[in-house]
Amino acid sequence: MLDKTAIDWSQRASELDIESRAFIDGRFTDALSGETRPSFNPANGEKIADVACCGAEDADLAVQGARSAFEDGRWSRMAPMERKMVLVRWAELIESHLEELALLETLDVGKPISDTTAVDVPSAARTIRWSGEAIDKVYDEISPTPHDTLALIQRLPLGVVTAIVPWNFPLSTTAWKLAPALATGNSVVLKPASSTPLSALFIAKLAAEAGLPEGVLQVLPGPGGSMGKHLALHMDIDGLTFTGSTPVGQLLMQYSGQSNLKRTFLELGGKSPNIVFADANLDKAAAMAAVAVFYNGGQTCTAGTRLIVEASIQDEFIEKVIAHAQRWMPGDPLDPDTRMGPMIDRGQHETVAGYVKVGCDEGAEMAFGGGRVLQDTGGFYHEPTIFRGVNNQMQIAQEEIFGPVLSVMSFKNAEEAVRIANDSIFGLAGAVWSNNINTAHKVAAAVRVGTMGINNYFGGDITVPFGGFKQSGNGRDKSMHAFDDYTELKTTWIELD
Ligand code: NAD
Repeated sequence: MLDKTAIDWSQRASELDIESRAFIDGRFTDALSGETRPSFNPANGEKIADVACCGAEDADLAVQGARSAFEDGRWSRMAPMERKMVLVRWAELIESHLEELALLETLDVGKPISDTTAVDVPSAARTIRWSGEAIDKVYDEISPTPHDTLALIQRLPLGVVTAIVPWNFPLSTTAWKLAPALATGNSVVLKPASSTPLSALFIAKLAAEAGLPEGVLQVLPGPGGSMGKHLALHMDIDGLTFTGSTPVGQLLMQYSGQSNLKRTFLELGGKSPNIVFADANLDKAAAMAAVAVFYNGGQTCTAGTRLIVEASIQDEFIEKVIAHAQRWMPGDPLDPDTRMGPMIDRGQHETVAGYVKVGCDEGAEMAFGGGRVLQDTGGFYHEPTIFRGVNNQMQIAQEEIFGPVLSVMSFKNAEEAVRIANDSIFGLAGAVWSNNINTAHKVAAAVRVGTMGINNYFGGDITVPFGGFKQSGNGRDKSMHAFDDYTELKTTWIELD
């Protein structure tokens, strides 16, 4: 177990050897154009590395390599048990490089080192190990046909898959995509978010060390609007798996239709309801209401950004949440005591500040926070912020802010709570807090989201599927259900003489 408090993280950060080139056909390489883009540390605005900026020509090369790898069967036809062993070795290597990977993620994303060491890196390793260990336990089917026929139903890999991922959980979302895609035998071309490519490049090196054959995993840092679009329109890519915003998800569906109808699975945005009844354990609910919205600076797709509280306890409950918000003041992500770091970049910092102004203009009452802080650091820090008196039609209740901003509303009965919760284009996650099993279960069943907590928030692990209803996406990450997104069902019908 790593004693993270005993480590001088700033010292370690200055000693890091950062790989910033693309990973194609088993080796690190510059973009063909020679172009690079700087990657910045959100905690101080300083440059961390000049990262290869890949374009369409690099993407074509990577797809070609991935296709050859798929067709010659070096991975796709490897026995599941052998694929398992490579994935398990890879997970072990990730664990043994926990410190470097956690640091890279903290520098690139601004996530607190206490999170990257305890959550992001271990969960990536766990995901890869779990999918690896599962894949040689999956059986195909024989259907109940007449006695003179034998019909086999097999799951086959899609072929070449592209994975396009966001900046808020770069390592975990990458693992959620790569683990099932690779376990099922696909070749993958991964495009990390332009601003956070470093951990993906690092684990690509570890994958090669673990024995993943050349060309099976390609990692291309570069801009989404050009290189990402090129991948999404590519005629030789069979599947696309995406985590990111709803507007980009909408584009990707169109690109699929305009090109080769590649299977397209999307994990998108959210505006998740967190419903608190008067009979709940209010202390626990208040502590978790703060975690739900302030964790990762609110830059979490499942963030509980709409707090819907029974009217009779509203004032008391808001006071409790404010008491917790005070413990989420942002700080240096390399300090092990920091719970919340900066926003990812200047743009996101501006977006959050813009929404805070919108909330005030719309007539919501600022109950806590609201300002930018630590500006002398050069970083993009924003206070935890709580609006009360919010109406669900307001922009701050309907739009994904992706920052530490909580909108509090009240309800008089369970029907009204459910109505407010479901009045959203999103359907990713939510929670209900009540000590009445009937209320809790009925409300949980009525809220249209992919993951619902009862008396918890952010519940779940690798054994359960994760994904959205409505405009929060289709498809599912994690668990055995994730294998469905990366496989085609094939029937072989055999007539017996
Ligand atoms: P984004 O949609 O802007 O970008 C995501 C990825 O798509 C990046 O790699 C980007 O470069 C690429 N991209 C952008 N435009 C593209 C295009 N035209 N064609 C192809 N690729 C393109 O999202 P973001 O700002 O990086 O991340 C935040 C969003 O991600 C939020 O909406 C959040 O809710 C969502 N998210 C969802 C989940 C989930 O599992 N549902 C998890 C994490 C984040």
